[in-house]
Amino acid sequence: MIRNVTFLRSSAAVLVLLAPCAIAADPRIPEPRILQLSERVYVLHGPLQHANPSNQGYMINATVIVGDKGVILVDSGGSHAVGLHLATYVRRITPKPVNYVVNTHHHGDHYLGNTAFAGATVISSETCRKLVAETGHEWLDLMERDVGHKLPGTKPRAADIAYPAKARTEMRIDGVRIVFWVPGGSHTAGDLVVSLPDEKIVIAGDVLVNGVVPTFQDGFVRSWIGTLDEMLTLGATRFVPGHGDVMTSEEVTGLRDAIARFYAGVAEGYRNGKTEAEIRATLDLSAWSKLERSYVIGRNLNRAYLEAEAASFDAPK
Ligand SMILES: [Zn+2]
Repeated sequence: MIRNVTFLRSSAAVLVLLAPCAIAADPRIPEPRILQLSERVYVLHGPLQHANPSNQGYMINATVIVGDKGVILVDSGGSHAVGLHLATYVRRITPKPVNYVVNTHHHGDHYLGNTAFAGATVISSETCRKLVAETGHEWLDLMERDVGHKLPGTKPRAADIAYPAKARTEMRIDGVRIVFWVPGGSHTAGDLVVSLPDEKIVIAGDVLVNGVVPTFQDGFVRSWIGTLDEMLTLGATRFVPGHGDVMTSEEVTGLRDAIARFYAGVAEGYRNGKTEAEIRATLDLSAWSKLERSYVIGRNLNRAYLEAEAASFDAPK
């Protein structure tokens, strides 16, 4: 079977072809859309919809970084089966083994596929590793509920190597210059952002999303805005979000501004003594109300409200 792959260089999209491959993917799980970003880097784009029986918990972007001898895979999918499914598409890109799996955060859709890469070293932030150990079985239960059946072989597998908060660790892995950046509270308490300076590519997990509403539920809204400001100083031109299409720096700025506007509106309402329902009526939600997962807006408002309340306790009287 010949598969089409889009090769993106600057704004010009050129169609290239991948070699035929005999390895069968799981027919129950949707096929990824494969985008080549550079000689070494490919994005496997998953469906945008939340986990459900028709996507079998496959709903993320996974990024394939082809090193000299093996692959570094960023995020592994929402189950053992989704991980195996992704592995078949990695093999269509390169015969090299997956030697490293990076987990961007502890939400099950991004890492419950780790067990499919048994020989790989798993990398995350220290906080993510702790949260996988503490919440992994809840995420597995949620995933089984969302897809409507048990997920055999799926076990929460925590990282072998973990980086502390606020650290930026630069190294060369298998010929690839790579920076692991743990920005501190953003989408979650333990996000890990991968920067590839030579490729001018940032792989952000759900610190960035495109075409879906960002979820604040486990997030830290004010420091998330600061993380996006810092991300924009890394010199990247392409940003791989956890969900949705690859973003430009202008699109990252747009997301940053949307989160900042939302928080500012909620904080102003809080200061004026408004209820969450009254605040909601004052916010311009047009950027998010038509996107996938717009149902999270109410929960986002609640999280922002609690932060505004906490900030008022911190403020000088
Ligand atoms: Zn996610």
